[in-house]
Amino acid sequence: MNCPICKINSLGPITLVEGLPANQCTNCGGVWLPSNAYLAWWKARGEDMPQKPAKSKIDPTWDVDELKLCPESGHIMARYKIFPDTDFYLDRCGNCNGIWFDKHEWDALVERNLHDNVNEFFTRPWQDDIHATERHNHMHRIYLEKLGSEDYERIRQVREWLMDHPRRGMLLAFLQADDPYKV
Ligand SMILES: [Zn+2]
Ligand SMILES: [Zn+2]
Repeated sequence: MNCPICKINSLGPITLVEGLPANQCTNCGGVWLPSNAYLAWWKARGEDMPQKPAKSKIDPTWDVDELKLCPESGHIMARYKIFPDTDFYLDRCGNCNGIWFDKHEWDALVERNLHDNVNEFFTRPWQDDIHATERHNHMHRIYLEKLGSEDYERIRQVREWLMDHPRRGMLLAFLQADDPYKV
């Protein structure tokens, strides 16, 4: 099998974690994980591992930002973002569902106990969640910049207080009226 990055026949067998065989490029360190190998390990793995915080940060330079071809079927692989506001992408073949990890990427998932969630990454809920979080963070940064941290914090507190208030409508009308005492 040819490495999708190095384009040479350099993929050799490795064991990613106990019971999970895969192929690693001896040149660039990338890992090819066939879908059936992952599923077999996933089904036999026992309990779901809770996500945990990692000691090391994700380095954006790990990502090899280029179009890759599936080493098994030759199809163009699709790139999926895995975490919001982070340059961490995995490539997945839509034909055989195999996954390509650039060097360090598999280890970064293991460190976070996310290596048993790999199949979720490519689902609509996971992808929608990333986009919703990114939109939220984007607006947060805009408010922070335009309003300043003090006023922004203040209006957030007011908003929180108003949100579930039983007389919210009256309070808002009072706030918005030029003269709330004029009838
Ligand atoms: Zn390689
Ligand atoms: Zn494929």
